Amino acid sequence: MSKLRKGARCQICKTKGETKKAVVYLPHHRLSLCKEHYIQWFEKRVEKTIKEFKMFSKKDKVLVAVSGGKDSLALWNALVKLGYDADGFYIDLGIDDYSQQSKELAQQFAQRVGRPLHIVSLKEELAPIPEVDRITNKPACSSCGAIKRYYMNREAKKLGYSIIATGHNLDDEVAVLFGNTLHWNIHYLKKQYPVLMEEKGFIRKVKPLCKITEKEAALYTVFNEIEYIEYECPFSEGASSIEYKELLSKLEEQHPGTKLQFYTGFLKKMYPLLQEKTEESQPTVCKLCGEPSFTDICSVCKLKEKLSKSGNVSVNH
Ligand code: SF4
Ligand code: ZN
Repeated sequence: MSKLRKGARCQICKTKGETKKAVVYLPHHRLSLCKEHYIQWFEKRVEKTIKEFKMFSKKDKVLVAVSGGKDSLALWNALVKLGYDADGFYIDLGIDDYSQQSKELAQQFAQRVGRPLHIVSLKEELAPIPEVDRITNKPACSSCGAIKRYYMNREAKKLGYSIIATGHNLDDEVAVLFGNTLHWNIHYLKKQYPVLMEEKGFIRKVKPLCKITEKEAALYTVFNEIEYIEYECPFSEGASSIEYKELLSKLEEQHPGTKLQFYTGFLKKMYPLLQEKTEESQPTVCKLCGEPSFTDICSVCKLKEKLSKSGNVSVNH
């Protein structure tokens, strides 16, 4: 993305008879663009992805899962600019300074776009992630992922939204795809699609940035002067997905377009083959809280019981 030819001009300006200097080069699209046309390119790409996968329309109420990071804020900004009815949702994970700062940035951004930001605090609902991490034997991210999905789904339903949009970008999707392929996690590969349709208590979930790289999202936030949390969550250290991302980025440098090709190739050629009907378990409802679950008691209620036994939280279904 950075190898911009000296003196390169914006290719879109050129078609209009203008000669503005390009500030960015997108190697796998072979495009040199000025700032204004980069922003336009980004938003068009988001809109095209939404339409390609029939994610939602301008009539739908969309809830954007905002973390305070570049991807989710870029997504929220683009959706509002494109005219979608998109509000924000933030989960305060209670991870010390990281949560404090990311919450402030999310709130600040909500004011800038003039849209509501709904907030749920894990300290009030369950227990902060560092607490959860202490009492479970699982990696923090695996509990955190399940907790986020649970509250996102529950709150979106409560607040009357029909779609949850997350800021997962191409790098995220490709790293997950790579990991799932490496371990042949067929169960997860079957579900790796940018749209998960609503079913039995689960709301539709979409990933409109799935064809946008991390660098492209970062550049969009910089060009739009959006402030975002620049450091990673302390629990992300050592995650294998980070190693996969580094590996794949090396490949991408040598062969621009590799990530996109790997991902879109999977969606077109492999995903349909994986959809053949098998006896997979169907979601039912959690006996304790009534939220959708694949087991009798959902993972959050199991966690609540564990926390209550360890004296950290009062069980409150
Ligand atoms: Fe949660 Fe892990 Fe992400 Fe931190 S890195 S926010 S613990 S999923
Ligand atoms: Zn439950």
